[in-house]
Amino acid sequence: MTAMQKRALVVGLGIAGMSAAIGLRRAGWTPVIVERAPERRTGGYFVGLFPEGRQAAVDLGIADHLHTRNPERAAGTNAWSVDRRGRRRPALGFLDQPGGPAAVLRGDIEAALWQSITGVEVRFATTPVAITEGPAEAQVLLEHADTGGQYRESFDLVIGADGMRSSVRRMVFGPHEDHLTTWNAMICAFQLKEQAPTYEASDSIIIARAKRAVWVFGLADHAPTALLTYRTTDIQEQFSGSRLERLRAVFSGMDDPTVRHVLDSLEEAPDHVFDSVHQVRMPRWSTGRVVLVGDAAWCMNLYSGMGATSSLRGGAALGAALQEHPDDLAAALDAWEAGLRPFITKHQRAARLKQQMFVPSSRRAEALRSVLVGLARRVRGRQSATESGGPQDVALSGTLR
Ligand SMILES: Cc1cc2nc3c(=O)[nH]c(=O)nc-3n(C[C@H](O)[C@H](O)[C@H](O)COP(=O)(O)OP(=O)(O)OC[C@H]3O[C@@H](n4cnc5c(N)ncnc54)[C@H](O)[C@@H]3O)c2cc1C
Repeated sequence: MTAMQKRALVVGLGIAGMSAAIGLRRAGWTPVIVERAPERRTGGYFVGLFPEGRQAAVDLGIADHLHTRNPERAAGTNAWSVDRRGRRRPALGFLDQPGGPAAVLRGDIEAALWQSITGVEVRFATTPVAITEGPAEAQVLLEHADTGGQYRESFDLVIGADGMRSSVRRMVFGPHEDHLTTWNAMICAFQLKEQAPTYEASDSIIIARAKRAVWVFGLADHAPTALLTYRTTDIQEQFSGSRLERLRAVFSGMDDPTVRHVLDSLEEAPDHVFDSVHQVRMPRWSTGRVVLVGDAAWCMNLYSGMGATSSLRGGAALGAALQEHPDDLAAALDAWEAGLRPFITKHQRAARLKQQMFVPSSRRAEALRSVLVGLARRVRGRQSATESGGPQDVALSGTLR
């Protein structure tokens, strides 16, 4: 069989799935994507895209389609933290991190990928319900959500890119409990209709208290997005009853106009993400003819800020490995995992520390966070004064604008 004839089933039309499909097509494979949803989703929350993700976008040939939204101001002048007395101070925001992340909405990345998968077959409202691996092929039983109709199809490779609660992972590698680590934290992310009162449109606002935090991410040409995150040991309980009432209860006592604005806006938001926080830990991301990529394989969670970046990189690298080993699938998957694993491990570990920056675990951690951010901001201020161009220029330089 020639490389041209090899077919891969990609499960999931997210960043990882589309990146893998483009990577595979470049390697001479024919990818077929199945997506559970009836149509392609758009919009989404703020995502910071780091240099490795931007490089992967270049490698995948989607960089020219990728719309970025960094507010055009110097580092440290568009992010504010609000203390317990309601005082507003200049802060280092998400975009001021080393690496100068590019500000995008998740939908911006998916739209860029979508433009580049023209010609790839995409079947909506379709999910795999059984996967049987043989030496020469993987047999997949697919189900159409509307009709309930099922049919079997064979593929040379099945790529599970179906997110943190991957059904491919559950079917092939075992139950969720074996791979999902619980972080005793919740998130709610959505787009605001308008900026919080008294702030400029592209300002970012950080209100990080012990065990609960509200973040507003300002964007250049779009209303900001909001993130509510809190720590709790009773994850199950968080999914019962009204979400809005629960969030109002969790954030009660944080008497700040921005918090009120965010909670009121949630009521009117057309959609939102509300979920528990986990990491996916797996000793191996592939077996025989089935491989996982993106959140399905290594979900680092939002605190790492590297999920979209690693999904792009993982998909692009998978295609490159298959191209390098056209006649040896096992060698390709080995090489892919060996190349990617150190990057993933590093950022999975870093996420624990970053969680403290997003939502401190205690009053002491909150105070420490405040001191560290203040110090970092002063250092950054001195660097900006001595260097030509600040970190914001770094974020906007290179291939992406
Ligand atoms: C609030 C928040 C903030 C974030 N911030 C950042 C950030 O700043 N930087 C960053 O890099 N990352 C960030 N991330 C993480 C990033 O968004 C994810 O890591 C990335 O989008 C994962 O992409 P994916 O394709 O692996 O999975 P997903 O986006 O989950 O896509 C999976 C796709 O598979 C489909 N699917 C699921 N089950 C099935 C099935 N059985 N059959 C068929 N299809 C199925 C789904 O409908 C979906 O389309 C953030 C995440 C959140 C929630």
